[in-house]
Order: sequence, then structure tokens, then C-alpha cells
Amino acid sequence: MSNTTVYIGLGSNLANPVEQLNTALQSIDKITSTKLVKVSSFYGSKPLGPQDQPDFVNAVCQIQTGLSAFELLEKLQKIEIEQGRIKKRHWGERLIDLDILLFADEVIHSEHLTIPHSQITFRDFVLIPLAEIAPGLVIPEFGNIQNLINTLDESYLIALSH
Ligand code: ADP
Ligand code: MG
Repeated sequence: MSNTTVYIGLGSNLANPVEQLNTALQSIDKITSTKLVKVSSFYGSKPLGPQDQPDFVNAVCQIQTGLSAFELLEKLQKIEIEQGRIKKRHWGERLIDLDILLFADEVIHSEHLTIPHSQITFRDFVLIPLAEIAPGLVIPEFGNIQNLINTLDESYLIALSH
């Protein structure tokens, strides 16, 4: 199994979000040719889109995988569906959202997959947990993670114990 280092962003704001994240992490570890290596703290965050929805819980994990980025996306989408994700509206509430943030140093711009994830640079709930488990990371196209964090506006993240 070839070993690519990949970072995945997790988010949930329905039906016990902490439990949703833990369930998803277990499922990620069970993906074929894939091993869960590190998990950040869990963070509480304010929703980005409509404000009349519960706060989110977010985290980032690091995996090693022998899958391609497209194969991995398919597996993650399967987990989202298994966990009963219902998409109601753009940036709206969801049981579980799994995004591939980085896939080694690959840059992909295709219809169904953008890597590094297109929202990476301005989401505190991605950058802060990512820096926690990968300090000094350099993100293709965007640069050093600490510089990106320094350019963030005010942050409303709260680290949760888990
Ligand atoms: P968001 O995560 O921005 O809130 P969604 O999860 O609803 O939005 O977006 C899902 C779509 O995003 C998927 O159909 C998938 O093809 C596409 N997509 C593009 N790049 C990525 C990525 N890096 N990780 C996960 N999904 C991605
Ligand atoms: Mg997503």
C-alpha cells in the first residue's frame, strides 16, 4: 500500500455532533488501505451560512491511505450517506460533512474535486485544528499555515474537551 498523507475536515451540527464526529472517525479508520493517524481537538464554531441553526463541532484528522483522491472522496461520501446526512440548504445544517483538505502536495481542479479544499484559507475551524496536528504545514497554492492563521479575521472557535 502506497502511503499518502491526507488531511480531512469533519463538521456536524445535528443529532449530538460530538458523537457524529466520533462515528465518522471510526468509519474513516475502517476505509480500505487507510489508517487514522491523528485527530485534532474538537472545536465549537458558529455556522457560516444561515444563523438560525445550531453551532457546529469541527475537527481535522490525518490519515495515511493507498487510495487515490477520487477513490477516497467516494468512500467519504458513502460514510456521509450512511450517517444519514441530509442536505437541506447550502451551508446549512448537516449530520456530517467530510472534506478532503489536502492530499499530500497534490493540486486538483476538477468538477467534483478541488484540492487543496477551496475554502481552506478563510475557515478558522479548518486552519486552527489543522495547525494543531500539523504545525508548520505548507499548503500548496496557499503557503504556510501560520501565515494563513495570522490573516484570519476574528475567530469564534472554542476548543471542546473530548
Ligand atoms: P461544503 O463542504 O463546501 O459545505 P458540500 O459538502 O455540500 O459543501 O459539497 C459537496 C461537494 O463538494 C461534493 O459533491 C464534492 O464533489 C465536492 N468537492 C469538491 N472538492 C471537495 C473536497 N476537497 N472534499 C470534499 N468534497 C469536495
Ligand atoms: Mg463537504
